[in-house]
Amino acid sequence: MLVVMHTTATPADIDAVCRVIAEMGYSAVPMPGEQRTAIGVVGNDGRVDDTNVVGLAGVAQVIHVSRPYKQVSREWRPENTIVQIAPGVAFGGNAIVIVAGPCYVESEEQILSAARAVRAAGGTALRGGAFKPRSSPYSFQGLGKRGLELLALARAETGLPVVTEAMDEAGAELVAEYADCIQIGARNMQNYSLLKAAGRIGKPVLLKRGMAATITDLLLSAEYILAEGNTQVILCERGLRSFDTAARNMFDLNAIPIVQKMSHLPIIADPSHGTGLRDKVIPMTRAAVAAGADGILVEMHPNPERAKSDGAQSLYPEQFARLMEEVRLIAQAIGREISPPPGT
Ligand code: PEP
Ligand code: MN
Repeated sequence: MLVVMHTTATPADIDAVCRVIAEMGYSAVPMPGEQRTAIGVVGNDGRVDDTNVVGLAGVAQVIHVSRPYKQVSREWRPENTIVQIAPGVAFGGNAIVIVAGPCYVESEEQILSAARAVRAAGGTALRGGAFKPRSSPYSFQGLGKRGLELLALARAETGLPVVTEAMDEAGAELVAEYADCIQIGARNMQNYSLLKAAGRIGKPVLLKRGMAATITDLLLSAEYILAEGNTQVILCERGLRSFDTAARNMFDLNAIPIVQKMSHLPIIADPSHGTGLRDKVIPMTRAAVAAGADGILVEMHPNPERAKSDGAQSLYPEQFARLMEEVRLIAQAIGREISPPPGT
């Protein structure tokens, strides 16, 4: 339930509404807006009886949020949430953020060379895994803390903010010390203790859709993070498992406009995991920008043949540079722009 206050409501009116909500056994979350304050009610699992609230002084309207998720819904917050991961790098506004880099951090030389290529092509942020969830326990699992240190080194040299994955609660604390945005991967989308930890830490979170998750599942997972008080969540479509083996995944671009209608959170697209092959990544990146994605997460490796993982879907630096030129034109055609690297 959302209690919308009149523009003329006084702080005392707002306090009184919050008190009544607390007496009903729920938590009140006041959200001051430019014109008026709205007070969200959390802690209920079903429709709340509003009889004690509707008649209170200063109350303009009571809105019952009809979705199972609340704080992530557009009913709760009609305007877009802007998620800023670093000065000048924000998701959810007019500018489309391009996050690029290798699947994994493999070495100092590799990540620095990738970061330089991202920066030179005009990419906005750097990606790269230090902790990697692998389907097989025998696959390379990442450099761990050393990988985070190398990402920080690449940021210091290029100025690009860093997006990297955390796999568990303890890992999230460590990742938060180094990264500008904590990625929660498809395999962990329903790892509720990780979601809560990321919510408590309060850093921006990039939450990827699980490979068999519905859009509602994705939004409910995001709700776990918001329920801990962290509204800085970016959603990511990365393709679904399907009956069709022609591509690695079924890249669900429908999710972009659907999520934008259902939620105020920004949504980006990952055509690398969405398709699995670099010659498909290029057209589907163009398509994701055209579909209205607030950002792109794309794998690019200085030497894809040598990549320890996901080489076949990693772009060559020259391909990435050309793609940047193309998406600039597509963004312009739909009245948007590509967010430049910070400091430019
Ligand atoms: C990744 O982005 O490197 C990754 C592992 O993606 P996903 O969680 O979508 O499989
Ligand atoms: Mn990958």
